[in-house]
Formats: sequence, C-alpha cells, structure tokens
Amino acid sequence: MATTITTGTAEVRDITKMERIGAHSHIRGLGLDDRLEPRGNSQGMVGQAKARKAAGMILKLVQEGRIAGRAMLFAGPPSTGKTAIALGMAQTLGSDVPFTVITASEVFSLSMSKTEALTQAFRRSIGVRIREETEIIEGEVVEMQIDRSLTGATKTGKLTIKTTDMETIYDLGTKMIDALAKEKVTAGDVISIDKTSGKVSKLGRSFARSRDYDAMGADTKFVQCPEGEIQKRKEVVHTVSLHEIDVINSRTQGFLALFAGDTGEIKPELRNQINSKVAEWREEGKAEIIPGVLFIDEVHMLDIECFSFLNRALENELAPLVIMASNRGMARIRGTKFRSPHGLPVDLLDRVLIVSTQPYQAEEIEQIIKIRCEEEDVTLSEAALNVLSTMATQTTLRYALNLISTAQTLARKRKSAQVDVEDLRRTYSYFMDEKRSVEWIKQQQGFLVFEEDLQAEPDAD
Ligand code: ATP
Repeated sequence: MATTITTGTAEVRDITKMERIGAHSHIRGLGLDDRLEPRGNSQGMVGQAKARKAAGMILKLVQEGRIAGRAMLFAGPPSTGKTAIALGMAQTLGSDVPFTVITASEVFSLSMSKTEALTQAFRRSIGVRIREETEIIEGEVVEMQIDRSLTGATKTGKLTIKTTDMETIYDLGTKMIDALAKEKVTAGDVISIDKTSGKVSKLGRSFARSRDYDAMGADTKFVQCPEGEIQKRKEVVHTVSLHEIDVINSRTQGFLALFAGDTGEIKPELRNQINSKVAEWREEGKAEIIPGVLFIDEVHMLDIECFSFLNRALENELAPLVIMASNRGMARIRGTKFRSPHGLPVDLLDRVLIVSTQPYQAEEIEQIIKIRCEEEDVTLSEAALNVLSTMATQTTLRYALNLISTAQTLARKRKSAQVDVEDLRRTYSYFMDEKRSVEWIKQQQGFLVFEEDLQAEPDAD
C-alpha cells in the first residue's frame, strides 16, 4: 500500500449523506427546547415525549463526545416512531456528524460477509475531521474556447490562464478544464483554484485586460505572473468517514466504488494501516475523531454471530453510538433455539439503554396525519381526516399515512382538489393492511405457492 493515505475531497461526503426523503421527510429534528423538554408539535414531531427526551439526552452525550461503547434500543409496537426519532436525532446532529442507517437484514448479502458489512457500517459512522493547509492560486482567464461537448483528454480549444503557479495547473489537466466548464468560466473572469482538490471558484471579472500577457497560440497556455502576486494559503477543514478513507485507499476498489455503493470487502491490514495513520494525524493535531451514530433498524433480524460481533465492536476505542430499534416482544434469537426480549441476547441487552415507545393517542395521530398532508401537499376534508385517523387507530399509522397519496390520486381523477371520505373508502378497498392481508392468505389456503403452516414457528437457521 502507498505510504500516503488520501482522504479524497469534501465532495465524497455529499454522496454518502443522502437526503432522506419519503416516509420521514417531515421530520426535521426532535422538537425539544433548550432544556431538552419536548414541545407538543415541533420540527415535524408529535407526542412520544419520553422517548424524544431520552433521545435528546443521548444526543447531548454524542455532542460532548462521551459515547464510545454506548448502545441504545428503541423498543415498541410498529409505527410508534422509533425510526422517526432516530432520524430526528440525525437531523439535530447536523451534517458534520456521521449518521449511518442500516436495516439489519442488509447485513446478509452475497457480496460480503456479515461481519464485514457490520464493520463497514461501524466505520461509516466514525468521522475524521481533517485540517489541511491548501494553497489557493488565483488566476485570470485570458482566453477560453474549450469544446465542452468533448470529454476527457480529448478536449480541444484554447485556454489561457494567467497565474503564478503554472505547474499546478498543468498537473490538474482535464480536471481543471471540467471545473472551469462547471463554473461557466469565460475569458476575463478572475478565478481561484484549490491546489489540492482542483475546485475552481469565480472571483469576479478582470479589469486588467490591457496588461501585457501572452494570449497567442492554440491549446492551453499559461502566463507567468511575478512571484507571490496572486497566491494565498488557506486552511480547509473537511470531514470524511473512516470507511471512506478505507475505500479511497483500497487498491482493488478505489474512489469510484463510493459512487457505485459496491465497495466489496476491505482487507484488515489496510484498516490497521489507516487506523495508525489517523492516530498519527491526531497526534500531530491535523485530525480529530468525530464519533457518530449507527442506527440499526429491525435489529432482531441480526443473528447470534452478528450480536457477538456487536458486543466486541462496542468495546473498540473507535466505536460510534449504536442505536437499535425493534418491534418484537419475546422472540427467538436468530441462529439459536433461545428466546429473549426483543430477540437480543441478554449479554447485549445488559449493556443497552432501552427506551420504549408507546401507541399514539387519537389527537396525536390526527396531528401526524395533518403534518404528512402538508408535506405531501394534500388537502383532506374534515370528514376524511376523521376517517383516516380512525383507520390509523384500527390498523397502523404507517398504513394510514400510505393511503394519503393513493387517495389523492383518486381525488384528482374525479377532478377534486380535496380528498374526501369516498376516495379513502376506495383506496382502502384497493390496498390491504397487514391484518386484512393475513385474513386473505387464510382464505386462499391451498391456492398460493410455497405455503407454510401459519402457526408454525420458523426453523432455526
Ligand atoms: P416499525 O416498528 O414498523 O419499524 P417505527 O416505530 O419505526 O415502526 P416509524 O416508521 O418511525 O415507526 O413511523 C411510521 C410513520 O409515522 C413514519 O412516516 C413516521 O415518520 C411517522 N411518525 C411516527 N412517529 C411520529 C411522531 N412522533 N411525529 C411525527 N411523525 C411520526
């Protein structure tokens, strides 16, 4: 492995910290006040006061960096906001603190072992804030006629930049031309170029057009300015995750694997080298560790090997806060014959802070439905709101929320701007909730493929 360990550019972060849209897009935080008291309806959050407060207290520990080795479990019935609260925590932490969300069953993939998948999830949740001194070169674009329709090294045309640092600009090559095109730079613009990342920013227009420079000839041309005239130093701080550093430095994968999301297995030796390098950077004051959060939804889907891995990994100095969620009561621990609360082994449960979530009151359900309607830009009639709230109580909140958009489609079809009871009635008949689906399966007995005895406990795997 190369002795230099690269961290990529800040752009890498943007693709891993994806916008979470969809079911939880109305959640913008935990809705707590300065004393961590939950407000009635704030930042998209309604009710579930105790769990939100508990989440706020844990967040405080995260922000103070006092969380290594901690784990918490949200336990409660389906649709009681376990995932919503975890995402509210992520929103509160801000984009600089890594927050990784996985569903336990993702760990069982064919492309890598379970423990590798968990290791990657752990390392995604540890941020390294790196300070780098970079030189910013300023230049003036004298002439630019680049054929932007061509890609890669085949770009042709005329580009003349007046700068003190010709060497760097030559090194940046086509990356530089792409950056110029992206910023829509034209002749006469004054630009700054980040020497490390090649990022170009426009500073304004030049008024020194009459100065003496060499603007002649074809292809790329640079004009040397007097030394030191337009060169500056600047400190750049960016946060990348340990996993991103692993991938960027992995010979077999490389930086592009981050875009594909398919990073494959990473060798333990590489991880050790990176750990030592990061430790070195910390000693030198160049880097700071930002312990983040790993959220494992449906944690009861992990098996006994994964649970022992978690127990061990939590002991590690570089462990993030692990938040788990489960809607199971007493359940079999996968991979064993034993039953345990939430399907988690007792030794793991013992080190976990358990926070329970409760079913919602009717008024809370109504408020959540209203928030979702606003989010999805749907108007419900008063009667439809009442019906949908009742449906949520009798089925699940998630099912009722899912009906909002389908009912709107039906309302639109009959050219109504507002969803009414009739639209809900029809959409209810098209889409089954879980209870009706189970009933339906019972009625179909003998006609469906791969039927199992509904009462039978699944085999130990
Ligand atoms: P499961 O056990 O089935 O995974 P869950 O407890 O994780 O369920 P969520 O997915 O968080 O439940 O909640 C279902 C829906 O209700 C989501 O759209 C969520 O954003 C919304 N929701 C749940 N609780 C709240 C709340 N307190 N305030 C606002 N929206 C909420």
